[in-house]
Amino acid sequence: MKLYNTLTRRVEEFVPNVEGKVNMYTCGPTVYHFAHIGNLRSYICEDVLEKSLRYAGYDVKRVMNITDVGHLSSDADTGEDKMVAGAKREHKTVMEIAAFYTKCFFEDCEKLNIKRPDVVEPATNCIPQFIHMIEVLLEKGYAYQAGENVYFDTSKLDEYFVFGNQNEEEQLLGAREDVTEDPNKRNRNDFVLWFTKSKFEDQALKWDSPWGVGYPGWHIECSCISMKHLGEYMDIHCGGVDNMFPHHTNEIAQSEAYLGHKWCNYWFHVHHLNDRNGKMSKSKGNILTVSVLEEQGYDPLVYRFFCLQSHYRKPLEFTFELLDNAKSAYEKLKKRTLALLPAEGNADPAVFEEYRARFLEALGNDINTSMAITVLYDVLKADTDDATKKALVESFDQVLSLDLLKAPENAEETPEDAELAAYVEEQIALRKAAKKEKNFAEADRIREELLSRGIQIRDTREGTLWEKI
Ligand code: AMP
Ligand code: ZN
Repeated sequence: MKLYNTLTRRVEEFVPNVEGKVNMYTCGPTVYHFAHIGNLRSYICEDVLEKSLRYAGYDVKRVMNITDVGHLSSDADTGEDKMVAGAKREHKTVMEIAAFYTKCFFEDCEKLNIKRPDVVEPATNCIPQFIHMIEVLLEKGYAYQAGENVYFDTSKLDEYFVFGNQNEEEQLLGAREDVTEDPNKRNRNDFVLWFTKSKFEDQALKWDSPWGVGYPGWHIECSCISMKHLGEYMDIHCGGVDNMFPHHTNEIAQSEAYLGHKWCNYWFHVHHLNDRNGKMSKSKGNILTVSVLEEQGYDPLVYRFFCLQSHYRKPLEFTFELLDNAKSAYEKLKKRTLALLPAEGNADPAVFEEYRARFLEALGNDINTSMAITVLYDVLKADTDDATKKALVESFDQVLSLDLLKAPENAEETPEDAELAAYVEEQIALRKAAKKEKNFAEADRIREELLSRGIQIRDTREGTLWEKI
């Protein structure tokens, strides 16, 4: 299997530390808001990576953190904790916010057929581990206390900017738009390992520590949580490209200083989903969620298919027009795969192996999902029997996870039912538009009209639902 490694900036043959086994870590969501479809592009691509490794025969253990403390509004050490800001916005406690958005995140993942990692650990579960790592860093001389915070001293490293040949200024500019110089830092790139109460009085969650009551910096969680579950040597670490600096750069700095040896061999970074305003981002507010796509009538798997059509290492432009193209291609594809459902009997082993090898070769070519989908189309066109095609589609879907052989639940639907459903969906869209224009009389009229036809509608977070009464 060949993978692009951001650390070496080359496509390399993947060789795990222990033969046949893969230790894999994924930076999880910061749970102060719904995940947007940009975040979910990263998780879809990472899911395909994990499933490709499994498909290739590796025994994979995958760990993900949940960031529920310490991620400030700037990725550097300035601004308010995102979780505290989320709690204030919704008049809830930080833990309520964390529980709610963690649940929503995994619901979205389920809709997108993203497998739950083997271990999911919230940062607030591991405070003793963070404190221990910081103590060791202090003992080894890689950290210092200043202004009641504990900082990592980047000047102690031979190389800090491990990911790039960009110059220091550019990297600082990329990540720290609103940075204000912290006078306690000895070097500009130093970062906080532990904040004390002196910094943000309104921080909701605080813990006792050898340096006073406070809370951890953002980066320490991923180093500690990965080591807790995967040990001192890791094979693959994943995240979106925006995590390369400062987050992953700082993770490597503190982990390798703590361990005294190389920590993770391969770094897998997914490029951004952009819309017309650039990178989709929770803080910019230009976000689209899975629920919004559903409200607009898209099966979430259409979005998964849309993502799989492009390479994870290229930025992906999102427009509804492009999503419509993916929708139509996905529907046509499913029609063809579902037509194989009645096929019975054994697959032709030679043909099965031939196409399985081609599929694996596409994935092994730095997770080339669009090429893997081409192999799927080749199977559908192939001069072989339907039982073999069905077996291959089923096999490929272990990685693609597009429900290619899952008949829709309303398969028994009559043409009259379909007509009614289309009519109701149209009326719901009209009502939504009326509400947007504050034409509540029209919105009520549509509701009444549907009711008179025996259709009750209900507004929920998932959008407007309807049922026959
Ligand atoms: P966050 O919840 O902000 O910690 O981000 C969760 C994951 O989504 C991280 O791996 C980010 O790098 C990634 N991410 C954030 N924005 C985007 C985007 N527009 N496109 C793709 N991935 C993103
Ligand atoms: Zn992380």
